[in-house]
Amino acid sequence: MQKNTENLLPADIESVLSQNSPLLPSRELLSYVKHCFNLGSKYLEAIKGESMPLYIIDSSILRERADKFKKSFTKAFTDTAFYFAVKSNNHPDVARTLLQSGFGLDVSSGLELQMALDLGARDIVFSGPGKTKAELQMAVTNSDRVTILIDSFGELAKLQEIAAANNRVMRAGVRLTTGQETLWRKFGITLNDLPLFYEKAIDCVNIRFCGLQFHMSWNLTPDAQCNFIEMLGRTLASLPESHRKSIEFIDIGGGYWPSQGEWLQPAGTREGQLRMVVGRKAGRPTDHYRLPAAGVDEFAAQLSQAINRHIFAVIKCRICFEPGRWICHDAMHLLMSVADKKADDMIITDAGTNAIGWERFETDYFPVLNLTSPSLDERACNILGSLCTPHDVWGYTYWGESIKDGDILMIPSQGAYTFSLRQNFIKPLPPVVVL
Ligand SMILES: *Cc1c(COP(=O)(O)O)cnc(C)c1O
Repeated sequence: MQKNTENLLPADIESVLSQNSPLLPSRELLSYVKHCFNLGSKYLEAIKGESMPLYIIDSSILRERADKFKKSFTKAFTDTAFYFAVKSNNHPDVARTLLQSGFGLDVSSGLELQMALDLGARDIVFSGPGKTKAELQMAVTNSDRVTILIDSFGELAKLQEIAAANNRVMRAGVRLTTGQETLWRKFGITLNDLPLFYEKAIDCVNIRFCGLQFHMSWNLTPDAQCNFIEMLGRTLASLPESHRKSIEFIDIGGGYWPSQGEWLQPAGTREGQLRMVVGRKAGRPTDHYRLPAAGVDEFAAQLSQAINRHIFAVIKCRICFEPGRWICHDAMHLLMSVADKKADDMIITDAGTNAIGWERFETDYFPVLNLTSPSLDERACNILGSLCTPHDVWGYTYWGESIKDGDILMIPSQGAYTFSLRQNFIKPLPPVVVL
């Protein structure tokens, strides 16, 4: 997850160091912190008596996000379907809430597929590279509920064989590669190969091939998605009429960044990383940066314009969405307590970052809120977990009057790509409280 600095020439270094990433506007940070303190006091009420640390899932936030996402895109398109990307938060209650909100589920392994089936999901898309025969078999067995997004020519052949052996017809689409120049080419087939894929798929009598999918992640704006839609439109226009007619859906994936933007520690910025490479400090602990992101209505407006112009001019079909992060990011939080105040500028918490599975807070900034002594002042202090590694960092500041043993801290908005990545490493995993 590190930002790339390795291709810089020495001559570039000074010029990068003299640049500055955009600062996180303090008004936005303050209003977020205020909002989270309000949530925090509500949560403390609700979990009275529970021991720390724990995760909280706030189902009302999930429902609100699901409704907002759907509303934005149904305004822009007439025929839509929404699938929550389970990998972004694989707690079954998160998926259950999304199902209740009228979403289907987007799964990328047999494990996730089994969970979706157990939850009673009736509309599941299964995508991902290297699906095993056992996974394909599970999908075929549940062909009334699953659409497979085929990843390669080899997988097409395997799926045909398994579907034939089971005497089933499997609904399927194909994933399209969006990054031929990068390792993103591990996903799907190229646009150039699409005509050949149609030729092969026609011979697969146990596969009803009726859709296309692409997915790009980390979109702060819709630009990259719109560019790909334009290329896709050109490819579709060149396909024979019969192939075009068979397309029932185009799934444009997920990757929508939450509208707060990406919040970074000094070490998460390009200049900060480079400073460390050349032996300097990345920056001050109270420096926060933000890469701004477009709001979901802006995504909907731009994507609908691109799709109208480049796709609907050629074919009319359903548009499918697979948001993960945008839906669950703000809906889960971590609560923990101060286990040991070792110095005025260093405390150890009872939770470790095995709870989130990666060294997120070395580069990403999220405020650490002292719920026991709230204040809108941010104070420098190393907030470290209890794992035996110095990378076990929650942050370098906290919001509060003071900090002492036993204080309850909240790290808000840890719903996406944290719980799913939790690790059995040194400390037990915190229990989950669903509100
Ligand atoms: C990860 C993934 C998503 C969700 O991406 P987010 O960035 O969480 O919105 C959607 N579709 C596919 C195929 C994915 O792999």
